[in-house]
Amino acid sequence: MPEIKRLLDNNIKWADETMARDPEFFDTLSQQQSPIYLWIGCSDSRVPANQIVDLLPGDIFVHRNVANLVVHTDFNCLSVLQYAVDVLKVKHVIVCGHYGCGGIDAALTNEPLGLIDNWLGHIKDIAAFHDDELGGLVGEAKAARLCELNVLTQADNVSKSSIVKDALARGQDLKVHSWIYSLRNGKIKDLA
Ligand SMILES: [Zn+2]
Repeated sequence: MPEIKRLLDNNIKWADETMARDPEFFDTLSQQQSPIYLWIGCSDSRVPANQIVDLLPGDIFVHRNVANLVVHTDFNCLSVLQYAVDVLKVKHVIVCGHYGCGGIDAALTNEPLGLIDNWLGHIKDIAAFHDDELGGLVGEAKAARLCELNVLTQADNVSKSSIVKDALARGQDLKVHSWIYSLRNGKIKDLA
């Protein structure tokens, strides 16, 4: 299994190099984490949170799922959000989608893909809601706009959650951001 051994070898090399650069790095991080960012992004392997914003371990709390959805009944995502806001006291919740998202593309077709169709139903709802705008677009332009509308909707879902509303009501310093990443040039655009 050379493909697995490669990861373990990489890990030893990374840990050794990190220690060489900063001998206190793991000692400090093992005591506590105090990230000020929560990242809610897509599971897509091409959009790794830490790497694209050049942050180290410990700097960003991360939740990823297919197409970066924040569903009001998803206790996985809500638990991450609650822990990040109430316990870690993050100052920024970043919902980051990306153009060329396979989840968005799949939602725009009616091909059956199995269980995930239920998850993608949330995106189909967004497409139906914005049918007037999306109906005038085709192909890549339509998919790209739905990627943006999805991010904006999910960021809105974060803002409407009881977790964020309660935090803002008690005066906590917290902002929600809608970002989209381009696989083509590696740049993030702020949709706000
Ligand atoms: Zn994606």
